[in-house]
Amino acid sequence: ETVLDAAFFVRWMTAAAAVIDREADRLTELDSPIGDADHGRNMQRGFAAVVTMLETEPPATPGAVLTAAGRQLISSVGGASGPLYGTLLRRTGKTLGEAPQVSAAELRSALAAGVTAVGQLGGSAPGDKTMLDALTPGVAALADSFDAAAVASQEGALATVPMQARKGRASYLGERSIGHQDPGATSSALLFAALAEVAK
Ligand code: ADP
Ligand code: MG
Ligand code: MG
Repeated sequence: ETVLDAAFFVRWMTAAAAVIDREADRLTELDSPIGDADHGRNMQRGFAAVVTMLETEPPATPGAVLTAAGRQLISSVGGASGPLYGTLLRRTGKTLGEAPQVSAAELRSALAAGVTAVGQLGGSAPGDKTMLDALTPGVAALADSFDAAAVASQEGALATVPMQARKGRASYLGERSIGHQDPGATSSALLFAALAEVAK
């Protein structure tokens, strides 16, 4: 059974920051027809702040790494994605508790609690064309493997294209939101891609 320590979670957040940095322009492009063209910048700013925090004061446990990262996202990102991703990571971190090491199964159930908290904060559910459409299948597929979660979340992001948005800025467009991929679902898939990468 794989054992994940605090250093693993620091590597995950660092890899997430790197892939978000590479994909920032694309995330902003996706946010332009159905949003306000800032998702890439929002995520870049937030995860850069997370990396700086982790470098200057690395927390000692997996739970503390995610809790501190979530707190950092909430304080450094102005858009909707800041509190939503911040809540995801904070709730996941709090659920992991103070254990020095956690199993992949423990990470999966903690992430499931984090995803539930996102839905509560956002008043949203899968099918609303949001990050939940990638997070929910991603967490479910974590039962199989990190790679399966990366694939499932990416498929979930692609599946937002034909959906009509019911939450967030994209919902203001009504039927005109159909035919565009949700930027937040796309960044969620990047978080699972980074997780699969560091788990190798
Ligand atoms: P803003 O819309 O404030 O500019 P961002 O562009 O950074 O924030 O993030 C937009 C993304 O946030 C959307 O693509 C969507 O995935 C997600 N989102 C917005 N509102 C909600 C909500 N109520 N529930 C879940 N996710 C949401
Ligand atoms: Mg936006
Ligand atoms: Mg905005």
